[in-house]
Amino acid sequence: MKKKIIGALVVLGAVVISAGFMGEELSTQEAAKKSVVPTPQETLPDKEPSISADDGDGNQEEKSEVQDTGAEEPIFLNSEITDEIFNRMYGKSYKEDCRVPREELRYLKLAHYGFDGMVHQGEMVVNASIADEVLEIFKELYEIRYPIEKMLLIDDYDADDEQSMADNNSSAFNYRVISGTSKLSNHSKGLAIDINPLYNPYVHSNTGTKACEPANAAAYTDRSLEFDHKIDEADECYRIFTEHGFSWGGSWSRSKDYQHFEKVDG
Ligand SMILES: [Zn+2]
Repeated sequence: MKKKIIGALVVLGAVVISAGFMGEELSTQEAAKKSVVPTPQETLPDKEPSISADDGDGNQEEKSEVQDTGAEEPIFLNSEITDEIFNRMYGKSYKEDCRVPREELRYLKLAHYGFDGMVHQGEMVVNASIADEVLEIFKELYEIRYPIEKMLLIDDYDADDEQSMADNNSSAFNYRVISGTSKLSNHSKGLAIDINPLYNPYVHSNTGTKACEPANAAAYTDRSLEFDHKIDEADECYRIFTEHGFSWGGSWSRSKDYQHFEKVDG
């Protein structure tokens, strides 16, 4: 009996020591990675199950996960518009007559999975009132490995929405009118976000005849067809945005903007 108790104490001691060691290892990693978001293990069907007895958020595997994809560390960051960013935007998405103060906008760094299955570092400018929520949305999209081909500031396309969409670039802020109208778009305040626009075109009759934007998206206007990267009500991107209170342009009654999510009430 006594032997058993001693034996149990030895085992317990070993567990305590190893648990203490693991805790230290985690906190060291924790300190090193700052804003890096862990990759969840349980949502990745193609991954082997985690063998570590960690706390379930997958911190221990995170580093090797990023190395596996051969990509840089995933970063999610919310910052004010620095002079460097503003210089990129001014005269392009931030027009000379822009009535939205620079202080009301935020620059986000958003890691995402690309169509190549690799982690990419995206960027986006949105309204400050939705910036934290947008960060959360993209963390959720990242966690489920939702594929977004590219996410560059639209200024890299001279703020030309057609060019950006045709290149399947996902973006948000752009001080402009709604295509075919004189009304300011919700993109003008950074309250609207377009996702994978080539596969999810804007289909409208604003100028009298039916048109799709980008013009090279005609193959994706028939939403009864099945194809990759299609946003519909069964899509995870739709689910996550609408769970965060965004409305979807694919639900509009007249024109349909399948790439478009907006949250105008902050
Ligand atoms: Zn849009």
